Formats: sequence, structure tokens, C-alpha cells
Amino acid sequence: MITVKQADILLQSIEIDWGVCSIDINDSEGEVLRETIISDRDFPPFDRVAMDGYALSFTAWEEGGRTFTIQEEQKAGDPQITLKNKLYCIGVSTGGILPEGCDCVIKKEDILRQPQLIESPKSISLKLNQNIHHQGSDYPKKTILLRSGVVISPTEIGILASVGKHTVHVSKKPKIAVIATGNELVPIEDTPKNYQIRLSNSYVIQSALKLNKFYDVDCFQLKDDYGLIEKSLETYLSKYDVLVFSGGVSAGNFDFIPKALTEAGVKEIFHKIKQRPGKPLWVGKKEHRLIFGLPGNPVSAITCLYRYILPNLNRLLRKTLGEQETIKLAAPIEFKKSLTLLNPVKITNIDGTCWGTPIATNGSGDLVSLTKSDGFIECEAERDSFPKGALMRVYKWRN
Ligand code: AMP
Ligand code: MG
Repeated sequence: MITVKQADILLQSIEIDWGVCSIDINDSEGEVLRETIISDRDFPPFDRVAMDGYALSFTAWEEGGRTFTIQEEQKAGDPQITLKNKLYCIGVSTGGILPEGCDCVIKKEDILRQPQLIESPKSISLKLNQNIHHQGSDYPKKTILLRSGVVISPTEIGILASVGKHTVHVSKKPKIAVIATGNELVPIEDTPKNYQIRLSNSYVIQSALKLNKFYDVDCFQLKDDYGLIEKSLETYLSKYDVLVFSGGVSAGNFDFIPKALTEAGVKEIFHKIKQRPGKPLWVGKKEHRLIFGLPGNPVSAITCLYRYILPNLNRLLRKTLGEQETIKLAAPIEFKKSLTLLNPVKITNIDGTCWGTPIATNGSGDLVSLTKSDGFIECEAERDSFPKGALMRVYKWRN
């Protein structure tokens, strides 16, 4: 059995490239950018007026001019016009190009307007370049604006749009099969007999995958029947990039998944981790396919999904991952076993610090307790006690 640290190292050494695809900007929210976005022009692309008002020559103002004849209007979106005389001014609007011959803009609120001229009260001051947003002052042409790996959010979409990227290269998502195994499982629309249970894991796994923007997911159900598993594996391995099994990876006589997978040519990366819950986790790889065997217990399944599967799928999409989040422990934890404890927590933000209150569960089947939690913390195997205030790695059900 390996430690959590060893499992992480083994998982991080897996390299698979599911490729890149081109999508419409409108569909790109939440996707992982896979190209470098470079400015195609200066930004702003011209000397831009930053206030509604009147553009004029600062020299005239410096020489004491406070009354200017209105030459004409330079509207936003119109080509540049030229100031014909230093004693003139030109009406301008925010977002328009600065007229040629002007080098400051006095705002509308600072003048007295007469039909053909403006007059500025003595109290008003004006500086050279005032209310002008100069060409290239945000960033010049050929600046790297976005790097590959960034997750596209509305602000990135704004940049894509401003450089004219109506289609964008993003990571191609793997096609995922979620396979529930167990003779005792019945579909949720059926009435279970007294020795059966409703199949819930597939719904949990699929919804967590969807929450993490993995939409190409199909769900299947299998009995603990070696022949059936063997036959179905052929189809799953030919059609999907990621297989997520639940159940059938423990030590029971009918836990056939690891054997069936290795027989089908899937190379085992590891089986069993020194942790609670989720000890029986199985991971393997076959060419571009990644295969996970989650323990069937609902709490173990969701914990392993969030602790190992989601971060690694995101890594394989080449997502630039942030620092692992941490929170402070709100109440001490004692765990005197040489296992890593993954303990549910309720997170509270007090004056900007996030505190995690451990939630007691009734074992690996207790999904109800999990609904009172926001995620789980990782209590390292090397330590037995974790005092109040200890900084803990945290994995949240939703971000
Ligand atoms: P297993 O890992 O197959 O030994 O299953 C461990 C426990 O999890 C058993 O009590 C199963 O009934 C339960 N279990 C397995 N698969 C599911 C599932 N899809 N939904 C809910 N419980 C499950
Ligand atoms: Mg089972």
C-alpha cells in the first residue's frame, strides 16, 4: 500500500494529451485556453478622449485663453478632425479620437456654454494631456495578454473579443464513462428489495464532473459478473478516454474490477492508499486512457473523486493550477493511525480567515453528514494530533 504523497507523485507522472479544439468565443467560458493571445494593435488604439467636454490647445490655455469658439463636434466613432485655430475648441465625447492639434480636454462640467463658444471660470485648472488616454498606454501592440493554461472567465472573454478572437483554441475534454458496479444496486426509479440499495454514486460523480466543466459523460451499470465486466470493458476502452468505476475494487470475492482491467491491458499505476476514507482506490492507464476504480462507499467515492480525479483531470487539460488552498482548523483533531485522514469540514470565514470545523460522520456511507460540510481537510499520516489553528489543505465541494 502506498502513501498519499506517493499516490500524488505517481498521478503527477502521468502524461496524456487529449488535444486541442477550436470553439466559438460564446462557448468558451470555463474552458482552458490553449493559445497565447497577443494584442493585434495598441490599446487604446488611438489617443482617446476620456471625458465628455471640449478639446483644445494647451498652449492657448497657458497663454491665458479662457474663452474658446466652438469649431465643431468630434463624435465618438468618427474619423479625426483638426483644430483650425488655437482660439477654437472642439466638442468631444468619451471614447472618441482626440482631434489633431489638441492636447487637453476640459470637461463639460467645468465650462459655461454659450451658443458658439465656451468660457471657463477662473477657478478651473487644466493640465497638459488632461482627460486623454494615450495610444498604447494600456498595452502596446504585440503584448502577450493571455497565456495558455488560463481558465477563460468573463474578463478573459473581454480580451478575446477586443483582439477579435471569435474562435479560440481550448483543451479538448476527455470523453468520460462512469460505471457503477454491484449486484445490490438498483436504478433509482426502481423500488429496491430489502437487500438492495439505490445506485447513487453515478449521480454524485456525474454532477461533480459537470460542476467541473466535464460535460461529455455517460453512465453505465454493471453486475459483479466477471464475464460481463470483461465484455463491457472492450466497449468502454474503445469509446472513452476516462473510465470512472465505482465499487468492485476492494478485497471481496466479487470485486473483479482490478483483475478485469489488467487483463484488458490496462497498466495498474497503484491500488490502495494509506488513507481513510478511500483506501481501495485503484488507478491505471492504457495509452491515452485513464482509468479510476473508486471504492463503492459513497463518502469514499466522492472524497477520492475530489482528492485525486478532478485535480488530475484538470492538470491533464494543461490548466494553470493555483496554490493548494489551506484553511485553519477550528477544533483539534486526534487521529492515531498511520493513515491520512480526509475529514469533512464546515468552512466559516471570520474576519477574512477561513476556519474549518470538523464534521463527524457515521462512516463511509454517511452522505447526510457530508451535506453539512463544504469539503474536507487532509490530516497527514505522519502526525497524530492537529491543534486548533493548524493550517490544513482543503478540498471544497464547490469553488
Ligand atoms: P464495494 O466497494 O463494491 O465493496 O462497495 C462498498 C459499499 O458501497 C457497499 O455497501 C455498496 O453497496 C456501496 N455502493 C457501491 N456502489 C454504490 C453506488 N453506486 N451507490 C451507492 N452505494 C454504492
Ligand atoms: Mg461491490
